Amino acid sequence: MSKHFADREVWFLTGSQTLYGEETLRQVAEQSQAIAAQLDDAADVPIRIVWKPVLKETDSIRRAALDANADDRVIGVIAWMHTFSPAKMWITGLDALAKPLLHLHTQANVELPWSTIDMDFMNLNQAAHGDREFGYIATRLGIPRRIVVGHVSNPAVQAKVGTWVRAAAGLAAARGMRLARIGDNMRNVAVTEGDKVEAELQFGVAVNTWGVNDLVERVEAVAESAIDELIAEYLDLYDVAPELRPDGERHDSLRYGARQELGMLALFEEVGASAFTTTFEDLGALRQLPGLAVQRLMAAGYGFGAEGDWKTAILVRVAKVMGQGLPGGASLMEDYTYNLVPGEEKILGAHMLEICPSLTTSRPTLEIHPLGIGNREDPVRLVFDTDPGEGLVVAMSDMRDRFRLTANVVDIVPPDQELPNLPVARAVWNPRPDFYTSAEAWLMAGAAHHTVLTTQVGVDVFADFAEMAEQELLVIDEDTTARGFAREIRWNQAYHRLARGL
Ligand code: MN
Repeated sequence: MSKHFADREVWFLTGSQTLYGEETLRQVAEQSQAIAAQLDDAADVPIRIVWKPVLKETDSIRRAALDANADDRVIGVIAWMHTFSPAKMWITGLDALAKPLLHLHTQANVELPWSTIDMDFMNLNQAAHGDREFGYIATRLGIPRRIVVGHVSNPAVQAKVGTWVRAAAGLAAARGMRLARIGDNMRNVAVTEGDKVEAELQFGVAVNTWGVNDLVERVEAVAESAIDELIAEYLDLYDVAPELRPDGERHDSLRYGARQELGMLALFEEVGASAFTTTFEDLGALRQLPGLAVQRLMAAGYGFGAEGDWKTAILVRVAKVMGQGLPGGASLMEDYTYNLVPGEEKILGAHMLEICPSLTTSRPTLEIHPLGIGNREDPVRLVFDTDPGEGLVVAMSDMRDRFRLTANVVDIVPPDQELPNLPVARAVWNPRPDFYTSAEAWLMAGAAHHTVLTTQVGVDVFADFAEMAEQELLVIDEDTTARGFAREIRWNQAYHRLARGL
């Protein structure tokens, strides 16, 4: 089975004890290996599941947790309490565990063997007992975890494990992420600001700034031959406007776009960044606002936020990692303008230029047009419509004492009409439960105009991510009412302040 997260793994830890003797423990090992193997084989579980020898006492449980913490390949652990496994043995281990935890509440057999069951079978197969004991300890310790209930042959169980794996991969990508800001925040915008020190503590993301001249230096150093190669790739992948082609009168502008892409790539590789921001207010000696270059880097997996918005850049990167191998894509998005015709209400999302082409399966056009802001030469950009289908927009706001994620489930639709005078990539969607409730709830939450739009992962993956990152998540979906949402915000306000302590 090919796994998308090939360089990562999840450990499968089984709890038991010595009460019932060696023969029972042999069966525990055999059954837990079979369960770990079923998860490992499941198409919906995009990572290697590594079975570990059965844990029977406090020291080895603590050691397993410390080993999982120390191993960068391990993005999380699955725990299952086979037999009767007193979870008191797990207290110091769980307390030490710094990786995401999934508590799998399962058993070896699907059917209860009514006609043959005896006390030996009962003693061996009592996860119903041991897992409840484990639930008590984990709750008593306040350990964030995902609980998945059911037999591992059940596709719904496999899918839930897969959802958690994707979230854990997102958290692993955040921990240790380096985010390069080219220039600072767009002036007078508040929601794109935030506490970068706290971001490093909460998510593990190091947010640092480079002057635009650091980028200009790399852009100017790019070799003409490298630009030739990239132009060939553009001609292969996109419908390039005649004026931008090698024989076109504005080909130089495209060459400069390619130069920017390669210069940015060089800088980000040099500093080890997997996410970045730019700002049109600080372009220094750059001749164009980077449009095509940013679109292409996002398509290659980089997180991006415009106008210095490092929080959205984190979300874009995390969403791309979590969605790895799934159809669709993820991009910076911005709520731009509305259609308010009664019964036809919808949102037009776009940005000045920087929308990731992973959102379309069509062939984008590569065009050049003037841009009213930035005070530079006309920028090159990819133009396309986002594929229709279900999507999720997620924003991150700094609430001073915590980061708040706000997510809205949306249905992406084709534009009502052609948009011949709007030469930028875009998406049109109906937010759930409806435009009015969605927008009211979004404003109540203080959620940003910048978001990540993902068509790869749903709200379940972000819910698991928020749980393991211990951050607030507000969800706007088909079940949302404005009144209920307002109450949830008030409760969360109290909860998150109490949970953080003094
Ligand atoms: Mn913007």
